[in-house]
Amino acid sequence: MSYETVIGLETHIQLSTLSKAFCADAAAFGGAPNTHTSIISLAHPGTLPRLNKNAVEYAVKLGLALGCDINRYTTFDRKNYFYADLPKGFQTTQDRAPVCIGGSISLKIDKPVGGRTNPRIRIHHIHLEEDAGKSMHDQSPEHSYIDLNRAGVPLLEIVSEPDLRSPEEVAAYMEEMRRLVRWLGVSDGNMEEGSMRCDVNISIRPQGSTTFGNRCEIKNVNSMRFAKRAIEYEVNRQIGIVEAGGTVEQETRGFDVASGTTYSLREKENAHDYRYFPEPDLPPVVLSEQFLADIHAAMPPLPAELEARMMQTFALPAYDAAQLTQDIVTARFALQLLETASVRNAGNNLNKQIANLLINKLLPWSVSTGVALEACPVPLDHWIAYAELVESGKLSASSAAQRLFPAMLEAPENAPEELATRLNLLQSADNDFLEQLVDEVLARFPDKVAEYRKGKKGLIGMFMGEVMKSSKGKAEPQATTKLLQEKLS
Ligand code: ADP
Ligand code: MG
Repeated sequence: MSYETVIGLETHIQLSTLSKAFCADAAAFGGAPNTHTSIISLAHPGTLPRLNKNAVEYAVKLGLALGCDINRYTTFDRKNYFYADLPKGFQTTQDRAPVCIGGSISLKIDKPVGGRTNPRIRIHHIHLEEDAGKSMHDQSPEHSYIDLNRAGVPLLEIVSEPDLRSPEEVAAYMEEMRRLVRWLGVSDGNMEEGSMRCDVNISIRPQGSTTFGNRCEIKNVNSMRFAKRAIEYEVNRQIGIVEAGGTVEQETRGFDVASGTTYSLREKENAHDYRYFPEPDLPPVVLSEQFLADIHAAMPPLPAELEARMMQTFALPAYDAAQLTQDIVTARFALQLLETASVRNAGNNLNKQIANLLINKLLPWSVSTGVALEACPVPLDHWIAYAELVESGKLSASSAAQRLFPAMLEAPENAPEELATRLNLLQSADNDFLEQLVDEVLARFPDKVAEYRKGKKGLIGMFMGEVMKSSKGKAEPQATTKLLQEKLS
């Protein structure tokens, strides 16, 4: 019997607002424990929440990007449970009328293992809620410590439909979601710092079946690698149970990173266990058409749109387009370069050279120096001229380009061709220059020349290497090959 894996994700995103969801405490990650706390985060009796308008704006922004319907009338609820890191004794969340309903996200899977290349995953809804504090059990043998800096930080929970079918699709979903929230500026999507965490709901069913099996929910998976391992383990565990004639119990499970296994935490709790009820301290939020229109008007073009433009208008390979649309700053800079180059009437090959320059040189430079791309002192025209030098073969792609790049950053006002000439980096297709070198090399290896003429044609590479060496990388490869072939025939 073969089985199909069915997965639905509940993704928590910490919003990058300055202050918390319901008070003015800083929402920033870190800080000395219990310093981002006021009487509201600490739940002193008599304190009242006040909704952060920015958090609502961010929710709407993400909702619009995912094609959700935005609830014009949205309300808050209390989800009651007891835990030491939850001073109020309830989480303020949205149960009845979440801010966003429906929508979807489209994924791209490079090498699907017998699966889909472009699955579209439906979103059930997105709701606003608040984070809890952090308990630390490893600081002392006798005590647990609690840091309430995180208590009350605004979160969005994005609940997908059970539309995912493999660990690859889950990884692609998380990556796409992360790119989108960072792009929109609503979250830093940093999984290590916990700004993005996933609960993974998993079930299996016989291939071809149209009903769902019982699911297990794996809590707080905080990296894509762990998600993959947790899913693989859990799917095998469930198949084992079913094959042995048993039934999978619906429950909440944890993932143990060290052993790569999942373990039972508790029986699945139901909504009534939380005694949800309307939050009496926060009035319903009514979103005006103007509020939505303003957010809509300020939306940047979406990453998938710019990625498609790079492939369609500028003929970049899918891999390059994906690399260049990881963040909006890079994407905008890349498109500015590509557009400027196309005004200069360059061909599509130049676009590929521009992509290479960005991916292999400029982005690593920006990361290692901490200087933003758009703050780079070299004018766009010079980068395009650099790409032209590489594309035309005047500059040998590897060594000479490697040296010209830092020289341009050091002398940003100089045209690259000038710099390359001064540094003696231009390849030469000049026939007299090449002929002299080729003759000299052939004279040095009479035995090899004889072998070549007897049919050992592979030796051409060795002759090329020698000519390159004595030209110090300046011999233009195509002209050199042609000349060698002529002289050896
Ligand atoms: P609850 O409110 O009890 O958490 P939901 O119906 O809201 O349950 O579902 C939570 C998540 O579980 C959603 O992401 C949904 O897609 C997913 N899910 C629901 N049923 C299944 C199933 N049979 N297999 C896998 N995932 C499921
Ligand atoms: Mg749930």
